[in-house]
Amino acid sequence: MINVTKTFLPPKEEYDRILEEIWHSNQIANGGKLHLELRKKLKERLEVDNIILTANGTLPLQIALNLLGNEGEIITTPFSYVATTSSIVWEKCTPVFVDIDPDYLSIDERKIEDVITPRTTLILATHVFGNPCNVEAIEKIARKHSLKVIYDAAHCFGVKYKKRSIFNYGNLSTCSFHATKLFHTGEGGAIITENRSLHEQLFYRHNFGHEGELAYHGLGINAKMSELQAGMGLAVLPYIDTIKTNLEQISNWYDTYLNVHGYRKLAIREFTEWNYSYYPVIFESDKLLFKVQKKLNEHGVFPRRYFYPSLNKLPYVTAGPMAISESIAERILCLPLAFDLKEKEVVKISKIINSSI
Ligand SMILES: *Cc1c(COP(=O)(O)O)cnc(C)c1O
Repeated sequence: MINVTKTFLPPKEEYDRILEEIWHSNQIANGGKLHLELRKKLKERLEVDNIILTANGTLPLQIALNLLGNEGEIITTPFSYVATTSSIVWEKCTPVFVDIDPDYLSIDERKIEDVITPRTTLILATHVFGNPCNVEAIEKIARKHSLKVIYDAAHCFGVKYKKRSIFNYGNLSTCSFHATKLFHTGEGGAIITENRSLHEQLFYRHNFGHEGELAYHGLGINAKMSELQAGMGLAVLPYIDTIKTNLEQISNWYDTYLNVHGYRKLAIREFTEWNYSYYPVIFESDKLLFKVQKKLNEHGVFPRRYFYPSLNKLPYVTAGPMAISESIAERILCLPLAFDLKEKEVVKISKIINSSI
């Protein structure tokens, strides 16, 4: 069976050896040695100033929206994982969708200004599949209308835009270190911002608002990453370059072996250093998608419909139609991209797709 992704597990001895430190320190929570070490390594690796490590990649969205959303209208993309929209609703804000760019699949910045109202507080956009939004245009709009910008950068580990970490754009970025993502800590995530005082406010909020043992800075929750998660991250991190190289190689094989009829690929924005963490294919019709999916399944290959449905169709939101997002969501399939996929497996998958088309 070949699935859309496969979790990379480091050699068990290496994780065990890292965990030994917990038995020495007897500290398994609350920003212990492993948590601090992972934070330092990620800051260096990602070239960011401030990073908060969290228990998953959804809490950062909730904390950021709680701090900056002000229960207002949030301009957002309908083409993302459900967490982008559900977090908005969870924090008592109102999602206001803007349709996506048909090539880049991220929010269409040209349509943002049309939906700004006095109740708009911020823009929450997703760099979907690690493909950067038009960050410059979005920043201009945000400045003009005094709006904050949050990027759901869950797919963006290691992505750079114009030689800077993509995490450094907007007021803040969130990331996910879930087992299905490029870099993982089992479950886990992060909040990244260049702004020191915003970082401090977010940091208090991810730890109950604690200011020392007995004082409280303000309202907070618990979003801390544990030592066990940080230990997994430390064990995975040394392999990230190899994993990334493999994914690039696998993508190149798909490029070589897939026919160019009946489907198109994601357009990556110029000046992007991409991470190759997804291989989305957009078919000409949903009929063709179902046909290909069925054929692949019969051969034990299980791609995923990232992302379906278009989020404006969620049962708990009220929103008008989003023609492009809905159309893409019905026709897009992410092909298997496990770090250890072999060339002959890519050939097999490509042949099945080519012959179905
Ligand atoms: C994975 C993902 C999340 C949520 O991350 P978790 O770590 O699973 O909580 C949020 N947004 C997007 C776009 C994602 O793909």
